[in-house]
Amino acid sequence: MMSHISEICRIDSLSPYYNFPVTTDVLRLDLVHPFVSGNKWFKLKEYIGEAKHNNKETLLTFGGAFSNHIVATAAAAEINNFKSIGIIRGEVPVRLSPSLLDAQNFGMELFFTSREDYKHKKKPAAVYEKHDEEGIYMIPEGGYGIKGATGATSILQSNETRSYSHIISAVGTGTTLAGIVTAANHTQTVIGIPALKNAFSLKQEIENLLPEEKLQAFTLMHDYHFGGYAKHTEGLLQFMNELYSKTGIPTDFVYTGKAFYAAFDLLNKNYFTSMDRLLIIHTGGLQGNRSLKKGTLIFD
Ligand SMILES: *Cc1c(COP(=O)(O)O)cnc(C)c1O
Repeated sequence: MMSHISEICRIDSLSPYYNFPVTTDVLRLDLVHPFVSGNKWFKLKEYIGEAKHNNKETLLTFGGAFSNHIVATAAAAEINNFKSIGIIRGEVPVRLSPSLLDAQNFGMELFFTSREDYKHKKKPAAVYEKHDEEGIYMIPEGGYGIKGATGATSILQSNETRSYSHIISAVGTGTTLAGIVTAANHTQTVIGIPALKNAFSLKQEIENLLPEEKLQAFTLMHDYHFGGYAKHTEGLLQFMNELYSKTGIPTDFVYTGKAFYAAFDLLNKNYFTSMDRLLIIHTGGLQGNRSLKKGTLIFD
């Protein structure tokens, strides 16, 4: 049985390590849990609450072979005594990715499906040969939805975060950002860094999760994707290694490395004014680094 998931995490200051023009701190959601890392627990908890309330037995969700959401759902299911099913995009691979192996170790049953069926979120018939449809609770891909965003509002409540003028976070589906925007007060500016290239539908997808008065309360910066989702450059990896050797803060190459890079770039370009205070949300995801060649990063 795995350890309980706490929502206790801390804020680190970067002032001892860098001469930034404004106060820059980091909310360390990566410390929440080794597998239900970072933002993922926050996004899942409302769904899991509803599944419990409705007496469901099994959580079912969707993801790719390297999905942090799949691993987090599998782990959270085990901790909360649910069975779990992962519908995985693509044919059965010769070797399972580290993420899928973890998911399996947490008891998740994996079903692979063609890209076409995956696109339409079709569930393989085999699922219902083995499981009673009534007992299955479906969590949308990436936890995207109002429940995911509602859960993510407690990210800002985990610590004293009211004093920051700017909050910056990595963006995948935008569910986490929607929660942060919802919870932020009206003087705070929330900046999202999409990990995907040309993710121009994101703005609308995030707005769909926001209350009316918050529709204008965030900015997306589309220039820090480093080639696209799960793509990276030498420069990004070098940045991540330097950040770690200076501060001891590990980042992942899919999301948080890009968000930290963006924050540092904005700081160096004097995007902020001297009265501003910046909070970088470390959304976790470190387990994803295992798909890099060993030795690429100076931390593991
Ligand atoms: C999943 C993930 C994100 C993206 O979260 P969304 O709510 O889908 O935008 C950001 N950072 C990390 C580390 C993640 O694993």
